[in-house]
Amino acid sequence: MNDLEFKQKVLDTKSASFCAAKWYNATIWLGSGQSTSCHHPPAHAIDTEALKTNPKAIHNTTKKKDDRRKMLAGERPSGCEYCWKIEDMGRDAVSDRVYKSKIYPIEALNEAYTTPHQDDVNLRTLEIAFDRTCQFACSYCNPAFSSTWVRDIQRNGAYERLVSDGRNHFTHDHPSSQLYKFGETNPYTEAFFKWWETDLHKTLQELRITGGEPLMSGETWKLLDWFKSNKGKSQTRLAINSNLGVDVDVDRLLDSIDGLEVDIYTSQESVYAQAEYIRDGLDYTAWVANVQKLLDSDRIRAVHCMATINALCLDSLPSLLYQLLEFKQIYGRERVSFTLNILRFPSFQSALVLPDDLRTYYKEKLQDFLDRNQSNPYMHEHELNHTQRLIDYLDVVKTPHSEAFEMPKLHNDFKQFYTQYDQRRGKDFVNTFPIIKDWYNTL
Ligand code: SF4
Repeated sequence: MNDLEFKQKVLDTKSASFCAAKWYNATIWLGSGQSTSCHHPPAHAIDTEALKTNPKAIHNTTKKKDDRRKMLAGERPSGCEYCWKIEDMGRDAVSDRVYKSKIYPIEALNEAYTTPHQDDVNLRTLEIAFDRTCQFACSYCNPAFSSTWVRDIQRNGAYERLVSDGRNHFTHDHPSSQLYKFGETNPYTEAFFKWWETDLHKTLQELRITGGEPLMSGETWKLLDWFKSNKGKSQTRLAINSNLGVDVDVDRLLDSIDGLEVDIYTSQESVYAQAEYIRDGLDYTAWVANVQKLLDSDRIRAVHCMATINALCLDSLPSLLYQLLEFKQIYGRERVSFTLNILRFPSFQSALVLPDDLRTYYKEKLQDFLDRNQSNPYMHEHELNHTQRLIDYLDVVKTPHSEAFEMPKLHNDFKQFYTQYDQRRGKDFVNTFPIIKDWYNTL
């Protein structure tokens, strides 16, 4: 059944707004006590009162139950606007509602549809962040997701004179992202482990642990210890996001996942000094060594590289793609993959702030990579599509996103931010990105 047929025959026959992600999928941030269904709707607060008697309330919140009621009645929950906008483009438009539902068996969809909306349901796919502990402070990240970013703001104060950062990513230390100090009892984490130990470990098909850097969090190791002491008890597929920094204990990880097959998702979008500039805290050579160590082990099903496409990575992105192709040749096509994800926020770091001539130059480099590898058997279809999509993006789209401030403000912030980033982090934009230098110096 193709995607459109699935929408028409499986989803729309239930209701015009039914989406299984509202029942079976969640992203939960235990540090801030927030939950959402997929990554599109805004996160909302989990009620700590409800958790006292029901740990499943970290997913089955009043808000989600009301959204389920709406979906059963064919009404559109407003938080799912991302999907409705796509569907309103035309009757045949396929939104994420299809892709996020299609991953579950038809019987599970029928069960969700016939379950009263106020009932609790068990998750099938979950992404969870225990806390924001992270030894990196990447330029496009912020204190909500990194304790090292928190330290930068606490030591040096807010980034100043930024005019397009409407969300104030760089002006405060985001205390609401970490409601409980280390050593204090976090009721959300407590509820997760209670639910996990009672029945979540039986129903969950896939658990993805994110952060912060999850391998710097004690809670991740606690969960991995559970797998170690309860071998064979859970069939949950495990995936871990990791920056694979020099101080990530890869040996301990491999030891902890004995008997499991784990997917590792790691961020990278450029190489060597440029990668280390963008991802402050990174040692590129150590990252390469960690990727190899993981791929040398049969406990790792695959390493997936997630590139966050920003203005600074395009210079050496093709070099990274060739490095990944080399890994594929050594370790196999199915064990290495990449995605090219276009950064939208902070918009002043978007690739689209660059002048036309630079964007054209980078686009041609990517086109050359694509031409040379269009028929390369090691390339996955989605990798070819993502590369083409990025080429088209650099070519066509002229403003970073629909609410973007006008370009002079983005250029102001580009210069302001990297000038302060250099001072705070001991970095050197001009020498690291010689090809962007002339334009940068005019800002
Ligand atoms: S309808 Fe769309 S936005 Fe809402 S949960 Fe489903 S996939 Fe996510």
